Amino acid sequence: MPKGRDLLGCGGKAIVLGRVKQAKGAAMVDPKESIRDKNLKARPERSALGLPMPDDFHLHLRQGEAMVLYARREALSFGRALVMPNTLPPIASSESISIYKKQILAALSEGSGFEPLMSFKLLPGMSAEDLRACAEAGAIAGKYYPSGATTNAADGPRSPDEVSEALDAMEESGIVLCIHGEDPEAPSLGREIAFLRQVEGIMTRWPRLKIVLEHLSTAEAAAFVASGPPRLAATLTAHHLLYTIDDMLGGSLNPHIFCKPILKSAADRRALRLAAFSGSPKFFFGSDSAPHPRNRKESASAPGGVYSAPTAIPALAGLFEAEGTLAALPGFLAQFGAAFYGLASPSGYIELLKCDWVVPGEIDGVVPMCAGEKLAWNFA
Ligand SMILES: [Zn+2]
Repeated sequence: MPKGRDLLGCGGKAIVLGRVKQAKGAAMVDPKESIRDKNLKARPERSALGLPMPDDFHLHLRQGEAMVLYARREALSFGRALVMPNTLPPIASSESISIYKKQILAALSEGSGFEPLMSFKLLPGMSAEDLRACAEAGAIAGKYYPSGATTNAADGPRSPDEVSEALDAMEESGIVLCIHGEDPEAPSLGREIAFLRQVEGIMTRWPRLKIVLEHLSTAEAAAFVASGPPRLAATLTAHHLLYTIDDMLGGSLNPHIFCKPILKSAADRRALRLAAFSGSPKFFFGSDSAPHPRNRKESASAPGGVYSAPTAIPALAGLFEAEGTLAALPGFLAQFGAAFYGLASPSGYIELLKCDWVVPGEIDGVVPMCAGEKLAWNFA
């Protein structure tokens, strides 16, 4: 068991279960056949769920000392993650990509097989040469943050014209364009829908560019992606699949699930869930896990971001199980994203146990997603 998982619940008391042998898909293990220790027979039976090692195609790891905690935590649940570049200063050059990747690898526990996938931030005036250098440094995606749309995005482009040379080169070289699809000039709940016109414009102007619309929050955006060509895909977060705006502010204000794009209605959440359950390769998981220390979140100017890395996988297993769609989970977590980015399928597996546990109120100095809630699955 990777160090650190005991913190999250029932790991130390788990019944020893057999290994999951299926190569593809989620696999339920019959505990009656897999209990090795006869002394444990008197304990309640628990099911196990084997999954291919999940990928996370949208992650914020931050910088400095805190990054060590966040990187190690992410590596307990995921084999690879696309690391977002909106640090200060931004990851926007071949040098900064190389340095950041080295820092992340150095932060990991010894023997960790976690692989950071690198992205760079598109800044106005970026040249084709800059782009090629980023690709040579290992970046697989460039991130478009409309100026002012979210954390550390003031320096982003105000229109695609400002990064047209880089987008030309990305289209040419197959580097994926990841878009934070919100128009910061629109009213806050309408920003995503308002930005879809710009995505349409980018798709028309760059007809071969591969595009991921990040962290969908509305039914309209889900329909937009579903009806688009195969080169258009989207990430879905755990928090947009679990919560609505009423969970955030219908009662007392919960700053720990305040995020960009803002959580929307139950109808929007339903559309996002149907996209995740659909088995369409256009929709895959990106946590957008974005930790902010508790004192910053519980302040008069709480920043957007949900720390979902520690709890996303157990929470999603519970959601997919409750909806009778567990068979769709491996594709969503571990196949479609890799295929879209042209990466090898994940190697390795994780195993979850059916085991009620209550998510701690704080992990790594941050209030995590589902804090205080009871979840039905936990890491084996
Ligand atoms: Zn993000």
